[in-house]
Amino acid sequence: MGGSVAIFGGTFDPVHNGHLRSAIEIKEALGVDELRLMPSHRPPLRGEPGAESSQRLAMVSAAITGESGLYADGRELLRDGPSYTVDTLRDLRAELGAAVSLTVVMGSDAFNQLHRWQDWRSLFDLANVLLLHRADHPLAADASVAEFAEARRLDKASALAVLSAGGFFELGLIQLPISATDIRQRLASGRSIRYLVPDVVADYIAEHGLYTQ
Ligand code: ATP
Repeated sequence: MGGSVAIFGGTFDPVHNGHLRSAIEIKEALGVDELRLMPSHRPPLRGEPGAESSQRLAMVSAAITGESGLYADGRELLRDGPSYTVDTLRDLRAELGAAVSLTVVMGSDAFNQLHRWQDWRSLFDLANVLLLHRADHPLAADASVAEFAEARRLDKASALAVLSAGGFFELGLIQLPISATDIRQRLASGRSIRYLVPDVVADYIAEHGLYTQ
């Protein structure tokens, strides 16, 4: 075995303490060497303030500086347009080699739609899947996905970190009631975001005048 890597994707617009607590808990539950936060493309929504890709990546990097085992991975931002998860995993697999344990973390909202994803079964050839329960998105996976995942279910999260790919586990986490949408709204109306994000992120947002419209 050549180590273990987990990928936690999201728009991180901006990264907040809910994401960061989850990142640590996922890393501890899996016992992986590296947990990579991977910002995805975010199409600009009309009328809503947002940050540039490079700014979202800079905030993630600043937020995790000095936290052992957490890394920022900007590869999806370097491509034009949105990336298919399967392409990102192929890219990572080519970089890491066949022996490394690779786990993709997926919220229940994404898992409920997995049957619509192109080539979704091959995700399990490339990586393990850690399903993260989200309080606001009850689990309602398509029967084809539920059956496929069930056949690959392991009995503990840490079993994923010693398997290169093909394993499945469901993790229930206590999620802090923080959302990036709420943070953007607070900033747009001039309210404080202190204690919802790390101070370095609040400082970056203030310095760059982000999310104020
Ligand atoms: P938005 O409000 O803009 O939709 P968000 O705060 O939900 O953003 P995302 O960037 O969409 O954040 O989320 C990235 C990942 O973090 C997702 O897998 C999501 O399930 C998880 N996540 C989001 N909010 C929290 C939270 N408060 N606690 C734990 N995990 C969270």
